[in-house]
Amino acid sequence: MRFTDKVVMVTGAAAGIGRVTAEAFAREGAILAICDLNPETGEAAAKALGPKAFFQAVDVSQEAAVSEWADEVAKRCGRIDVLVNNAGITRDALLLRMKESDWDLVLAINLKGAFLCTKAAVRHMAQQRAGRIVNVASVVGVVGNIGQANYVASKAGLIGLTKTVAREFAVRGITVNAVAPGFIETQMTAVLSDKVKQAFLAQIPLGRAGTPQDVADAILFLASEQAAYLTGQVLHVSGGMVM
Ligand code: NAD
Repeated sequence: MRFTDKVVMVTGAAAGIGRVTAEAFAREGAILAICDLNPETGEAAAKALGPKAFFQAVDVSQEAAVSEWADEVAKRCGRIDVLVNNAGITRDALLLRMKESDWDLVLAINLKGAFLCTKAAVRHMAQQRAGRIVNVASVVGVVGNIGQANYVASKAGLIGLTKTVAREFAVRGITVNAVAPGFIETQMTAVLSDKVKQAFLAQIPLGRAGTPQDVADAILFLASEQAAYLTGQVLHVSGGMVM
């Protein structure tokens, strides 16, 4: 029970990695403040997490909604201990076919969303002189990927954001790290063709796709006391896909 009564915010927690991460924190005693776009699936996810969890419908790319959410969490719980910037989307296309609107949307959710949530939560953490932020980046943000210029740029940007916020807030006792998942089985990757899935699998030394739990385990570690001396780091959770 590493997180008894710790206040943990997780974005995009109605499905996939975010949902499994919220469940893992809840099993270790945390109070969960989760957000996502769809109120029905979000409420259902919060209910499944138990009585200490609560949901708010928030689009992380909207500053007013994000800042209201963080203030509400701080007011209700008295503090914010952990923020997991997990919400993310893909809109894949080769560069010459990529629409400007798809570039803008992916950057707005994956990168600006993390900036806005960080800004809103870190104010409270700074007053406490303690806090943990974990950003969900991707291995492709480090090595690039054909057909994902927008997504890769957002994840590479998120890694830069991680390192900068880590430097700015170290003095306040706040650590900021990222996980970089490889190929993880969620609704995001379910839509890929068998050919693309096989191509990913062929690059994974450990010989299997990752599970959301594999990523959640790394996120909980970075959010825990055991990771007190880690900041500005990117932990690859990819079965060795990237070394
Ligand atoms: P997912 O689609 O299963 O879940 C993403 C969740 O984010 C959904 O519930 C969705 O509704 C929510 N969301 C989307 N836009 C939002 C917004 N504007 N505001 C709030 N919530 C929003 O995807 P996943 O695979 O669980 O991905 C989670 C994170 O992990 C993403 O940041 C993704 O880029 C990253 N990631 C995933 C993989 C993978 O292989 N699945 C690999 C590397 C990184």
